Amino acid sequence: MRLILLGPPGAGKGTQAQRLVQRHGIVQLSTGDMLRAAVKTKTPVGRKAEAIMARGDLVPDDVVCAIVSDRIDEPDARRGFILDGFPRTVPQAEALEHLLAEKGLRLDGVVELKVDEGALLKRLATRIAEMRARGEPVRPDDNPEALKTRLDVYRTQTAPLIALYGRKGLLKSVDGMAPIEAVADAIDRALSPEIMARGG
Ligand code: ADP
Repeated sequence: MRLILLGPPGAGKGTQAQRLVQRHGIVQLSTGDMLRAAVKTKTPVGRKAEAIMARGDLVPDDVVCAIVSDRIDEPDARRGFILDGFPRTVPQAEALEHLLAEKGLRLDGVVELKVDEGALLKRLATRIAEMRARGEPVRPDDNPEALKTRLDVYRTQTAPLIALYGRKGLLKSVDGMAPIEAVADAIDRALSPEIMARGG
């Protein structure tokens, strides 16, 4: 099964991606995690991405698309994957379509987590407070200014993908405001035809 998880920052994409990984034995491909790893190890991509990410802006499409394409070729992604945080722009969605076609793969669905903005800001504030309490380093982009940029970028560049995948008949919208388990069940229900078709 090959899925995209779509939703604004703080919508719970990472949490739900992990549950899908456990339930369906597929891998989570988070471009945010991959880029943070590149920043940490100071690869050329990481050096390029660091300041952009800290501001809450998007890393250039070609950089992100190359990372995703390589990652999809790894053996553990053969059974399927969940893209978390990619695509984030219309050109990225187009690039994904091409690269999947080249690899002879197809998307099974796009799950949109619908969350209202007031709740997002609250969730993110809680996440930051919890990380501080545990003594964990807070992400450089988890501050009010970068967060505002991340939400603006989502609204202007990423939200158009909802209509795009709706037109392709791939979109499954789920209420992301429900408790974690309820969201996970709603995702499974929304995906049940795809899961049945793939036998797991
Ligand atoms: P969140 O969804 O909580 O904002 P992510 O971990 O998905 O966080 O992404 C963090 C940052 O990494 C983004 O703000 C952006 O700078 C960069 N990034 C992640 N995925 C992409 C992408 N597909 N295209 C461009 N930049 C990306």
